[in-house]
Amino acid sequence: MNAGVGAGALAFLHESRAQRVVFAPGQAAAACAEEAARLGVRRAMVIAAPSEAAIADAVAAGVPTAVRHDDVVMHVPVEVAERARRAAADGAVDAVVSVGGGSTTGLAKAVALTTGLPIVAVPTTYAGSEATDVWGLTEGVTKTTGVDARVLPRSVVYDATLLTTLPPELAVASGLNALAHCIDAMWGPRADPIDRVLAGEGIRALAAGLRAIVTAPSGLAGHEQTLYGAHLAAVAFASAGSGLHHKICHVLGGRFALPHAPTHAVVLPHVLALNAPAAPEARRRIAEALGTPDAVHGLADLYRTLAAPRSLRDLGMPEDGIAEAVEPILAAVPPHNPVPVDADRIAALLRAAWEGSEPR
Ligand code: NAD
Repeated sequence: MNAGVGAGALAFLHESRAQRVVFAPGQAAAACAEEAARLGVRRAMVIAAPSEAAIADAVAAGVPTAVRHDDVVMHVPVEVAERARRAAADGAVDAVVSVGGGSTTGLAKAVALTTGLPIVAVPTTYAGSEATDVWGLTEGVTKTTGVDARVLPRSVVYDATLLTTLPPELAVASGLNALAHCIDAMWGPRADPIDRVLAGEGIRALAAGLRAIVTAPSGLAGHEQTLYGAHLAAVAFASAGSGLHHKICHVLGGRFALPHAPTHAVVLPHVLALNAPAAPEARRRIAEALGTPDAVHGLADLYRTLAAPRSLRDLGMPEDGIAEAVEPILAAVPPHNPVPVDADRIAALLRAAWEGSEPR
């Protein structure tokens, strides 16, 4: 069932995802130990990439740990997932604690998917994977995603102090990845009025938080707002499902091995410009959340302030990839996208995103 914007009837189905969410700035270690204790954890597998190890050492210090695992690769190749599952079995672990970005959370989910082990997630980027029941695995160049209640972390510990070490350009790209969750949640295939409220508040918090981060990259206030917005974004997105934006980024990321967050950042203004004219209610909500008269111009203004990434060419996508990506994107266009899309529209969108020109 889908209650489309402007459908004229308040009839919808909204499913909440059960999860404990702890916002504890500066208190991740205590909160993580408490969440693990509540789950009765005695032999945890702590997953963190090598670059996240120092954060994980501190955060998981109070968790009874049987296995430390740092073999993390973006988009979770199946062989990486298999190694992690083997390590979990060999260590007879009873829970997974992930401390890191979306790649680390994704590996914890891959373990939970086949073992049913509970996850305590401590995110260190704004990717939002910790608040969704979506998993992803990559075989060769093909990434498969799915939805499974087992991969939804039982507890999430949000500690904004952990994100103050993000390089500013990564913080911006990751925050715009979260903004894309909010904007796609306005018209995703299962988008409902509750998702739109969460997404609107998410946009407000993300815009304010990211503006504060570029002014003071290590200041806590900006990261707190951005983390709050990223959580709302992921909750809204998990409920609404992947809209056109995510389908485009999924195809591009998989085919051309593009970095996840910057790809989302580049594509988002183009999808907004495409859909906004046919989605007046979403356009109004996004504009209101950005505090501007118009959503498309408001997002452009935010991008200028953030010096956001603008071009797929700069991210390493080959020019002939534009033609290559059109058909797979068309095949994945979700139902209820506000604007009917055809090959010409997708090609024009990709061309503009590749060149880094203004969205049309
Ligand atoms: P990432 O996890 O790959 O992290 C990017 C880089 O930042 C890594 O080198 C990491 O070690 C480093 N890093 C992480 N936290 C840091 C910190 N606090 N300080 C300094 N460096 C830090 O990137 P990401 O964008 O967080 O996650 C991308 C992955 O997450 C993709 O595979 C994407 O598909 C997945 N994802 C999944 C969902 C979902 O719902 N399943 C949602 C969003 C993203």
